[in-house]
Amino acid sequence: MSLLLRTLAANRIGMDVLLEHLGIGRSIYLAGSRLRTVAWTAGIDSDWLQQRTVQRHTEAGDRFFVLAGHRVHGRLLVRGACPQLCAKCVHAGGCCLLPWELACVCACPLHNSLLLDRCQRCRAVIRWNRQALDVCHHCQWPFAPSSESAEVPAGAIRWSTWITQRLGDPPYAAACALGMPRWLDGLSIDGAFRVVEAFGCIEQDARPVEHRSQALISARSMAQMLDRGLNRLNMLEVSSAEQRQLVDLVDLPTLERLAKYGITETDRLTGRALLRAGGLRRPKSMRKGGRRQRGQLSLFDSEAP
Ligand SMILES: [Zn+2]
Ligand SMILES: [Zn+2]
Repeated sequence: MSLLLRTLAANRIGMDVLLEHLGIGRSIYLAGSRLRTVAWTAGIDSDWLQQRTVQRHTEAGDRFFVLAGHRVHGRLLVRGACPQLCAKCVHAGGCCLLPWELACVCACPLHNSLLLDRCQRCRAVIRWNRQALDVCHHCQWPFAPSSESAEVPAGAIRWSTWITQRLGDPPYAAACALGMPRWLDGLSIDGAFRVVEAFGCIEQDARPVEHRSQALISARSMAQMLDRGLNRLNMLEVSSAEQRQLVDLVDLPTLERLAKYGITETDRLTGRALLRAGGLRRPKSMRKGGRRQRGQLSLFDSEAP
């Protein structure tokens, strides 16, 4: 999308104008004849373009996205029409990076800053339909670098580094080399995120989770959730005393969805193993909703998968 936007900017054409002119609708997901039409218009190879855009699929009623060969479920993970970016990277390289399409890649390891999901000047949500890569579609001012760089949680940087590498060509850094549990390497990107989400989406005081009611959460909230989740996963490997602190802080429905609908067999087995390891499976009477009561279930008392 960034190459397309750059091509359009060079010709002073808005993306909405082009899509309307081509009669292919406003969806940013390109496939089949729509993808070929856009590739032809931009003068690029359609296979090359397909590899570098998010593809949306539906298979046996299951809707998922494919990103550089990795399959992910959309909820919370694909930013779609609300992109994010690192202003410094865009200024330096003149393009947006594919990993930024994933909401869980919320930080730039190179510049140690959160990705921007809003214009720093007018607070408008960033859109693809802008005049140039580095300019806000609403106020037309160049994007300023994130002002929150000093506060980026370390876990968000480590996670963003790992996912960015996994979306590229191997070899990539092992999770444990970045201070994360080594068994995350065996999971798909989607599965690893669901585990971290399950352990990180509930705040310390067990307040309701922001993202439960939203299609997308901010880069700041995502960074805090990842950091919390990774810290708690590391606690699993420490001691039973540490593990006891996790009671009521693991989101069971997320683990149950992973156990049932995980993208790979390893994802599903890991979901089941985590539920079993901590005795976390909810009683049948509670499966359809409602949080378990404090102390109702046993603690983590065996090893993580
Ligand atoms: Zn950057
Ligand atoms: Zn703006």
